[in-house]
Amino acid sequence: MSLTELHDEPEFPSVFEDAVLDTLAPAIPAADVDDLRSQVHGPVYAAGDDGLATEVDTWNVAVQHTPAIAVGATCAADVVAAISWATAHDLRVAVQATGHGPVSNAAGSLMITTRRMQGLHIDPDRRIARVEAGVKWVRVMEAAAEFGLAGLCGSSSDVGVVGYTLGGGMGSLGRKHGFAADHVTAVEIVTADGRLRRICAESEPELFWAVRGGKGNFGVVTALEFELVPVSSMFGGGIFFAGDDAPALLHRFREWAPTLPEEVSTSIAILRIPDMEELPPPLRGQTAVHLRFAYAGDDHAEAERLLSPMKVAGTILLGYVGPMRTDEMDAIHMDPKDPMPAWEKGMLLRELPEEAVDTLLAAAGPQLDIPLIMAELRLMGGALGRPASVPDAVPGRSGAFSLLVLGPAVPELAKVVPAIGRGVLKALEPWKADESMINFLGDVSGPGEVLAAYPAESRERLVAVKRTVDPTGVFTFGHAI
Ligand SMILES: Cc1cc2nc3c(=O)[nH]c(=O)nc-3n(C[C@H](O)[C@H](O)[C@H](O)COP(=O)(O)OP(=O)(O)OC[C@H]3O[C@@H](n4cnc5c(N)ncnc54)[C@H](O)[C@@H]3O)c2cc1C
Repeated sequence: MSLTELHDEPEFPSVFEDAVLDTLAPAIPAADVDDLRSQVHGPVYAAGDDGLATEVDTWNVAVQHTPAIAVGATCAADVVAAISWATAHDLRVAVQATGHGPVSNAAGSLMITTRRMQGLHIDPDRRIARVEAGVKWVRVMEAAAEFGLAGLCGSSSDVGVVGYTLGGGMGSLGRKHGFAADHVTAVEIVTADGRLRRICAESEPELFWAVRGGKGNFGVVTALEFELVPVSSMFGGGIFFAGDDAPALLHRFREWAPTLPEEVSTSIAILRIPDMEELPPPLRGQTAVHLRFAYAGDDHAEAERLLSPMKVAGTILLGYVGPMRTDEMDAIHMDPKDPMPAWEKGMLLRELPEEAVDTLLAAAGPQLDIPLIMAELRLMGGALGRPASVPDAVPGRSGAFSLLVLGPAVPELAKVVPAIGRGVLKALEPWKADESMINFLGDVSGPGEVLAAYPAESRERLVAVKRTVDPTGVFTFGHAI
């Protein structure tokens, strides 16, 4: 089968046709587990051990991992030992930092957890950060802000730097500076052969291209080095509007957003907000429209002017948009901090004409009693639409807007939420771009759907790199190709 045919396949085969994921943990002799324990500094938990479930806990609790064995890596040497041991025992390898982006249960795997790998160094003169695999964005943003610098963090700084960046990474400075992956200068990665490699554009150009955008397909990244961007000041925040004004707001957004300069990144979301005591009364249990606005620049009067057409497009319930520090950017999206069970799926739109907005409103508008927490449109374009200075595999540059739908992944709605979410995306299919963003693929049917997210010219190239560095399919979890 050719890669281009994969689009039409209901069930997609893996690059490794025989890589059928185990659902039962293979029995591993206790002596072998002890042998692994003697080789690593971090804890090792085998199936049946107290502590295994806690070690592999996810933030998105919709997915619960049941690996055969988990290694709490403390350093790159632990990752080397764990991967070598796994391949010697015919186990496939999964990796988790924060559990914000599990795709499916990594059942029967050797799972490497990286949260103990917290090394962070910022070189303010070179504007370079080096982070180990377990670092979350919050630490980078706080440390970089001291020097007037910022990383290209996404909507929540609770997300891991490595997982986010390997999937592209689109955040509130994206239209000005591009994807986070575009700024990576070096990757330290342990490949299936158990070798720790430090790769950059000069040393291994093909693997360096693939790993920036190719997610966890090529090995376990132990550290990333990337450029920070100078941001002297920001003007940003979010405004919650009354849900009834959704038609006016979304249509205004459609006309307004594409006129904005690259200094502005913005999005709008229809939110069905749960009735929770910790939320402020005007929002509790309400359907609202949330406008997010981030202006990276010093001219705050100009930012205010740019925002003004949206401020009068609906009834404001609550909100703040104004001067903010780069380490306060979580206030733009106000993503939840506590773990939650979420089902999500996204796609890119190549355009957003009036009819597309009407279609979105008909499928997910506030008039409907549906269990979708969020239907979000993010403006793309600007630097997100241009290739990186050192080209990478990040897909999605042809998108004009990103559409993401999200709902609660609770047992009683297990079939309903995905059906409704997919229905919204299907309704918008006439405007679908050819590519998708890996970080927003969400629930995927298999490797073919992951490959189909990339432009045609990248697919064969990614598969070729995969076959070279992971010929037996050691890394077949997550967004595997
Ligand atoms: C609340 C929230 C907000 C988000 N906002 C944005 C956003 O604004 N923009 C955006 O682009 N994305 C966003 N995302 C998506 C997020 O970037 C992905 O889910 C990402 O994979 C999370 O990485 P993690 O390490 O935190 O999660 P994990 O679940 O720990 O890891 C997810 C996957 O990342 C890969 N990975 C992690 N660590 C390594 C490693 N050391 N080596 C190799 N592969 C690794 C693996 O494939 C793993 O399965 C958001 C997600 C959430 C839940």
